[in-house]
Amino acid sequence: MSTIINVAVAGAIGRMGQEVVKMVLADPELKLVAAIDRASEGADIGRIVGKEECGVAVSGDLEQALLSGQADVLVDFTTPHSVVANAKIAIRNKVRPVIGTTGFTPETIEELDKLCLSYGIGGIIAPNFSIGAILMMKFAAQAAKYMPHVEIIEYHGDQKLDAPSGTSIKTAELIAQNRQELRQGNPKEEETIEGSRGGYYNGFRIHSVRLPGVFAQQEVIFGGDGQTLKIRHDSYERSGYMPGVNLAVKKVQGVSGIVYGFEHFID
Ligand code: NAP
Repeated sequence: MSTIINVAVAGAIGRMGQEVVKMVLADPELKLVAAIDRASEGADIGRIVGKEECGVAVSGDLEQALLSGQADVLVDFTTPHSVVANAKIAIRNKVRPVIGTTGFTPETIEELDKLCLSYGIGGIIAPNFSIGAILMMKFAAQAAKYMPHVEIIEYHGDQKLDAPSGTSIKTAELIAQNRQELRQGNPKEEETIEGSRGGYYNGFRIHSVRLPGVFAQQEVIFGGDGQTLKIRHDSYERSGYMPGVNLAVKKVQGVSGIVYGFEHFID
């Protein structure tokens, strides 16, 4: 018999947070016990996400909300400025963090890992919870062993602040771990318009397209003698991340310290 997992959501009225709230409300194995955000305090979060009243009011006080809701897990989709403080509050209250907020440094991940271990709990930080995107990265890493000539093109909306995307950097890191060292292209190549060959990473290139109307897509293109291989993933909407978040909420119970990257849960 499975036990119910009590879930708190930080950033609950944000774009991702609302999807998480809907996902938790729809899963009988999960119970929404707290919704934390900076606005709409006191309003029923069920109504905010377009569902029936669920009896959970939005709170601005994370610690209080975690304690009164007896949360087991905190799912955080807030901002790079808030997430670390939120995670520390959760860990100190023995609430396991499942973090989708991006912008972590390796040092912060290490700090949270140590904090988790000292409180005897685990947590998950994943820059991409989309199962399809993780498979795209894994397949690309595998292909790089046999086809070392590669370029990445990632596409996002025109309001995205960072380039290249966190997912393309993670893909590039995985490719570099599996690919023989190689500087691609013509050594005499010259750019007549600066940046036209994209960003340079470990011998290959990453290109960032930013356009209105685009959500999140990535293509990894391998070239060999007489052939190309394209591995492509398209995200159309935020609900696509929810099966991954749901799995992480359930898997975090069995984790010790911080696990970084959702790929560790997909074999
Ligand atoms: P968003 O719509 O701006 O939502 C963030 C929400 O968090 C806002 O309502 C914000 O309030 C609130 N917030 C900020 N600080 C808070 C705090 N200390 N406590 C509680 N709530 C707080 O952003 P989003 O599009 O949902 O994205 C959120 C994060 O998820 C970003 O870092 C994004 O890159 C990341 N993301 C990750 C994945 C993944 O698969 N891992 C996928 C998509 C997005 P204010 O508006 O008042 O600041």
